[in-house]
Amino acid sequence: MDWLEEVMIQCPQCGEEFAIQIETAVDGTVELIEDCAVCCRPALVRVKTSRGEVMGIDVEAA
Ligand SMILES: [Zn+2]
Repeated sequence: MDWLEEVMIQCPQCGEEFAIQIETAVDGTVELIEDCAVCCRPALVRVKTSRGEVMGIDVEAA
């Protein structure tokens, strides 16, 4: 079973969209820092997961 989900997020710094991979094996909120694929600045990503699915994503400048 593959618990990695690929989702698109929008960079809070430059507004570009890029894909990240999220571990969805744990129910709850996962926090991770992702560097933007376009401008390389960090973004704080909060992902709500439930039963291996992404329920919601929040992105803010880190
Ligand atoms: Zn960016």
